[in-house]
Amino acid sequence: MAKYIFVFGGVMSGVGKGVASASIGKILQARGYRVTAVKIDPYVNVDAGTMNPTEHGEVFVTDDGDETDQDVGNYERFLDVSLPRENYMTTGRVYQSVISRERNLEYGGKCVEVVPHIPEEVIRRLRRATAKAKAEITIIEIGGTVGEYQNILFLEAARQMHHQQPDDVLFVLVSYLPVPGSIGEMKTKPTQYAVRQVNEAGIQPDFIICRSTAPLDAPRKRKLSVFCNVDESDVISAPDIASIYQVPLNFEKEHLSEKILAKLKLRSRKKNLQDWSVMQRRMARAKTVVRIGMVGKYFATGAFILPDAYISVIEALRHAAGANRVKVEIDWINSDDYETHPAKVRELSSYHGLIVPGGFGSRGVEGKISAIRYAREHGLPYFGLCYGMQLATIEYARHVCKLAGANTTEIDPKTKYPVIHIMADQAEKLAKKQYGNTMRLGAYPCVLDRHSRSFKLYGTRRITERHRHRYELNNFFRDRLTKAGMRLAGVSPDGQLVEIIELPSHPFFIGTQFHPEFKSRPLHPHPLFSGFIAAAKQRAATGGGKIARKKT
Ligand code: GLN
Repeated sequence: MAKYIFVFGGVMSGVGKGVASASIGKILQARGYRVTAVKIDPYVNVDAGTMNPTEHGEVFVTDDGDETDQDVGNYERFLDVSLPRENYMTTGRVYQSVISRERNLEYGGKCVEVVPHIPEEVIRRLRRATAKAKAEITIIEIGGTVGEYQNILFLEAARQMHHQQPDDVLFVLVSYLPVPGSIGEMKTKPTQYAVRQVNEAGIQPDFIICRSTAPLDAPRKRKLSVFCNVDESDVISAPDIASIYQVPLNFEKEHLSEKILAKLKLRSRKKNLQDWSVMQRRMARAKTVVRIGMVGKYFATGAFILPDAYISVIEALRHAAGANRVKVEIDWINSDDYETHPAKVRELSSYHGLIVPGGFGSRGVEGKISAIRYAREHGLPYFGLCYGMQLATIEYARHVCKLAGANTTEIDPKTKYPVIHIMADQAEKLAKKQYGNTMRLGAYPCVLDRHSRSFKLYGTRRITERHRHRYELNNFFRDRLTKAGMRLAGVSPDGQLVEIIELPSHPFFIGTQFHPEFKSRPLHPHPLFSGFIAAAKQRAATGGGKIARKKT
């Protein structure tokens, strides 16, 4: 019988429910079980592709082209597996299938009701994801916070599953225990209320994972146990730590995998977290710091800076830093800044590497182009991801090929030099206003030039990477770009689509039409990110953030 572990959050969002879910998956996988993980987003959006990343965070793209929540990225990174679209659902997606089934008369004339038909569809989807992964244990993270109106139907699905198979379904509440500065003491009350809220939904948590700035002490464990009806040993302390990759190891200090397996009536097999601990120690012990500037626009929400929109890029940098035995320090640079204060771009001299990640639209674009120009002219290692590749092409066209006003038609449809232009099939979709899930999405193969730096880094000619774009390098300009020194280092197997550009004369200048960050894993850092960090490390070693001297 397959087993299911539902994870939901109490008190507030953003306390690390995704990492907790991924870590639970990891420790069970380390016990030899086949584990998969599903994210449920309560939004009515059918997928994350139509949500603003500033509000919702990164859109994580799967191999099969689903536009999912960033937590799916956490599951992939921790479990070291690639997940299919079955592992993501939203309220919109669930309703969409119930409604289309109703239209096809599949309910045989019955009244179709929110309960039971919506939770039934949720359960059907969960079982399908489990079957597809052949999983012995499925972790299901329910987005949002308990007590919210919008996730009630998902909790109802969880309750029903538990009712149907009580020995196979387990509930974990990830809660937050504030330590208010004015009081100086960790408070358990909000968690007690959160447990009452899930109790109202007919659910009793088996475990409470207590997120806080500090470890949970014995008196508070006891208190939560008494008030929340959970054994003391099932109240798990989860204080803030330096790296998310430490979380599975911390859970194991509390013997969480054994406790979970016992409740699920599964045998406790030998634990193997060796690779993971080695990786984690390597990351933690690195001392040399490389400073990376990341120029984007999805950072600010009101008075706060949230780098969530670029989470996979950040993690990929950390994996690569671990592989290079350095620590990476990332600065978020708002590209608007370089437009209002062009001289500020000189601050880039203090960095060891520059990244321009994916993006859309015109805001901040000229600022990004100025930053790329600086990197190109000053030998600063540059890595452009998707939009970062397109903008690097524009920069090269304008300032090296002297095609003044060169642009992408995304921004300037009338440009004289459309070095980046819309892909033919995409133009039709935009004309029909078909925006949702219609970009060039998911994994596509790419063939590398044998002489390229990318080939050296990947160590193979044929690669597969994930995409999310509508525009591409305009083949009409290939000759002019290559004659001016740009290398088209990777193209689609039919040779039609440029996937990677490089500047061979530069210490490290690579732009990819795809998003390599989606495939980087802590146990398998991405070769291009590793190469980028190696170049940044080299720059740090040969004169810090100062302009590196050319070797003679
Ligand atoms: N806006 C660009 C395109 O649609 C780049 C997309 C991206 O960076 N993901 O092609």
